Formats: sequence, C-alpha cells, structure tokens
Amino acid sequence: MDSTMFLRRTKIVATLGPATDDADTLWEMCRAGLDVARVNFSHGTQEDHLRRIELLRTASLRAGRYVGILADLSGPKIRIESFRDGPVQLVEGAAFALDTALDPKAGNIDAVGVAYKALPQDVHHGDTLLLNDGLIVLEVTGVHGTRIDTRVVLGGELSNRKGVNRKGGGISAPALTDKDRADIRFAAQHGLDYLALSFVRDAKDVNEARKLLLEAEGHARIIAKIERHEAIDNLNEIIDASDGVMVARGDLGVEMGYAALTGLQKTIIHEARGRDRVVITATQMMESMITNPVPTRAEVSDVANAVMDGTDAVMLSAESATGKYPVKAVAAMAEVIEGAERYQLAHERTRHRVGGSFELIEKAIATSVMYTSNLVKVKAIVALTESGSTPMFMSRIRSDIPIYAFTRHEITRRRVTLYRGVYPVSFDVSSKDSNTLYASIFTLLLNVGLVEEGDLVILTKGELSGVSGGTNSLKILEVRRS
Ligand code: PGA
Ligand code: MN
Repeated sequence: MDSTMFLRRTKIVATLGPATDDADTLWEMCRAGLDVARVNFSHGTQEDHLRRIELLRTASLRAGRYVGILADLSGPKIRIESFRDGPVQLVEGAAFALDTALDPKAGNIDAVGVAYKALPQDVHHGDTLLLNDGLIVLEVTGVHGTRIDTRVVLGGELSNRKGVNRKGGGISAPALTDKDRADIRFAAQHGLDYLALSFVRDAKDVNEARKLLLEAEGHARIIAKIERHEAIDNLNEIIDASDGVMVARGDLGVEMGYAALTGLQKTIIHEARGRDRVVITATQMMESMITNPVPTRAEVSDVANAVMDGTDAVMLSAESATGKYPVKAVAAMAEVIEGAERYQLAHERTRHRVGGSFELIEKAIATSVMYTSNLVKVKAIVALTESGSTPMFMSRIRSDIPIYAFTRHEITRRRVTLYRGVYPVSFDVSSKDSNTLYASIFTLLLNVGLVEEGDLVILTKGELSGVSGGTNSLKILEVRRS
C-alpha cells in the first residue's frame, strides 16, 4: 500500500451458498473485497448457516479483513406447494387454480396447493398474480372458497415452491413468521451483525423484530427490505424505525412493475441517506455472472449507477451463492465501483444540510468534519468511536476523504463494514494523554502508508473515551513521526 492508494468507498455484500462452501473460495472473496456476507434464511437449515458462518469467520481472519455478517430472514413469502409429477408447462389462455385445500404434493397442470390459508380472502376477481418473480402471470377469474381460479396470461414452466406476489401488493401475511422468530434467536445467539427483514409493511413490523432481537440479546442492526407495495406507501416511517434499508429489487419489481424500479431506487437511497440510515442495493446486479466470467455492459452500468445514486453497498445474490464465479463476481463489482467513484468524487462538494439543525452533538460534529474536510486539504478522518455512530453520520455526506473508525470493539469494526467510505481499525483509546494518543494514531496510519508526514488529518473524539454517543470534539492535526 502506498499513500496515494485509492480506497473503494462503496461496500460489497455477497450471499453465501453452495458455491462458497469452500475455505479457499471464501478467502479469495475476502481478498477480492467482500465487506459483508449475507446468510439467506430462505434456503438451507440452521446447521448449514452455522457451518457457513464459521467458515466465513475463519476465511476473513485469514485474509486479514473485517467482514460483517447479515442474516436475511425468509419472511412471509407466499409460495405454491409442489407438483406430483415435476414441473408443469402453463399455456397462455388456459385455466389454472391455486387451492389452499389441495394436498401439498398433488399439484398438476390444472391446480396447485398454497400453504397460506388466507390467500383466497386477499385476492379478488380481476387481480393479477405473479409467480416465479413475474415469469408467470395469472389473472384471477373468480374465488370459490379455498380455490382461486385464474387464466394464464403469461405461460411457461412452473416448478415446486415458486413465490406468489399480487401486483399492487395487499396480501396481508404478517411480516414475522414462527421460523423468522427462531431465526432471530439464532442470529442473536451467533453474534450476527445485521438482521434483514423481508416483506416489511410498516414501522410496527420493524419494531416487533427489534423487540425480539433485544429480548434475545442480539446486537444486530436492522435492515428493512423494501419489497412490498405497502412498504413504499410507508417508506419514511420504515426508514426511521430501521437502521438501514435494502432496495430489494426482485420482489419490489414484481409488486410495483419493473418500470417503476429505477425511480424507486433513487428515492429510497436518497431518503435513507437523508434520514441517517444505510442502504443496500440488491438483486440481479451481476446476474449474467451466474454463468459467465464477465458482466454485461448493462450490469456494469447498473452497479455504477447505484454507486452514483449514493448507495452504501451493492449486493450479490445467486451470483455468489450458487454461481460459477463467486470470486470473479466480487472482483468485478469492486472494479466497477472504483471506476464509478473515480469519475464521480473528484467533482463533488456537498451542500447537503447547510441549512439544517442538529439534535445530536455527535451529528453536529460529524457534519462539521465533512464540511471542514471540503475546505481544508485533509488526508484522512479518524473517528475514535464506541458504537460507530459518528462515522455513520459522517458517511451520510458525500466526500472522497477516507473515514477511519478507530475502535476497540470487534462488534463495531464488523458493523462499520457496511458504511460507505468507512474503514474499521482496531485501536484501544483508553487511558492515554493527548500527545501519546496522537502519536499512536499517527504511527498506525504511517505504518500502513495511509498518510505521510506533514499531512493533515481530522480527529473526532469524546471528552471521556469509552462513552457511546459522547463525541464532542473535532481537531485538525498535522501528522508527525515520533
Ligand atoms: P430475496 O430479496 O432475494 O430474499 O427475495 C431480495 C429481493 O427481493 O430483491
Ligand atoms: Mn425478496
């Protein structure tokens, strides 16, 4: 590393799965730039997840990188049951029924079971149902007791356990299933860093999950996945109730129509950042890399545009979990992010919140730091932090100056892996006078080549180190060798 090294700011989340069940693959993914590993509770057992978590922790240690872990709950995704003789071919114009009373294994070309018993109450004549992420489209022609009759509008192959969405939303399954409750306890027990909630409808869903998480003594931060029509209606209250959100473009595109997605992505990212929350952009970002070693130009552009929209992180799903090139997908994402950031950052000066007022001292300090760093030529920002919240506030404002989160807490180091432009550093601040403190910070930065003698850095800290939320000072320091 040299001091002119360019640091990628936007983070990479990659889903673990069968394709990453190998110590070397995971190690290479960490080295290629993996920041947060996603464990997808929609597939596999708790034993599978635990094995993957342990493998990831070993790999990140070996690669010398902090990697956070995100537990993504299944949520109340409504699915069809199974077919007796394998997949069926639905033909346009044909009649097809979803029947909650049908034997779960007895599906055929005429009808298939559904486990969610209330579905017939939630749909009406004329509704559009989308199966398998919209690849199959059914129009409801009538509801008779347990049976929803439909006509096939867009046909194709339909196989076991595919998802069912209603265009326009309104399917009223509660957001936390019993399985989700058990998985929350699992996430707490194994010290996972983020908890993603699927199919959130409103702030109440988030609050309920948070309550369960706290009861289970988990430290995870909560990410609400925005993937329902109702979540768009309640967007701001959901953002405020969460620690971050995910633009979950798969289901969101089905419920809202894919033409609305690009605008929604920009709105969600903008609102999340403006409300001091983090945001992940997800789904099909590098889809063709499931089978190809290089992304399409459209995928390159998609990732770059999410970066330019201001997302904290971009996410890989099947590309890493079941694809042929999990390492190459991470590496390609890292390269595309750097290209987008180089283009963008040189020109940017934020006027964000120039007229704002702050209820929190640490937020006022964080904002002042970012303005100061635009006015004075500083090389780095060093935040001595307990919980990571001051660097989080800093990273809500666009900048090209790296923000180093110096902390003695391993949990905080793993948490900040998701924050754009924030880099975790292990550092124990306790019981040092100012001069010793500055000298040890400079030595650390100089040793890894992040600054040179004479560079300016901004330091933030609290009067009393060791107190969360106590950051109340900003210092501009000139780096010296001791
Ligand atoms: P999923 O969520 O992959 O768990 O469905 C993401 C999305 O819907 O885009
Ligand atoms: Mn989804």
